[in-house]
Amino acid sequence: MSGVSGSDTCPNCGAEMDTYLDSKPFENVSGECYGCGFFYYTVAEQMCLEGLNEGRKERGLKPLKKLPKVSKLMKHYIKKEAS
Ligand SMILES: [Zn+2]
Repeated sequence: MSGVSGSDTCPNCGAEMDTYLDSKPFENVSGECYGCGFFYYTVAEQMCLEGLNEGRKERGLKPLKKLPKVSKLMKHYIKKEAS
């Protein structure tokens, strides 16, 4: 973890909330309020093959037969955020 911890005013209850910002390996932000329980975080996911190909079509890219592999590092983030 090489991010920056900070604090911000909770948009829900106005209490001070803990925030966290990391820019590697992608922009990743989160915050949690212990005044009311509001929290947010960046979600990391991989599209399903169908959704990916739909987007590729719109961008003039050839459809893929198989979902590209996700690196070990990124798997760690996807698992962490999805669970
Ligand atoms: Zn709050």
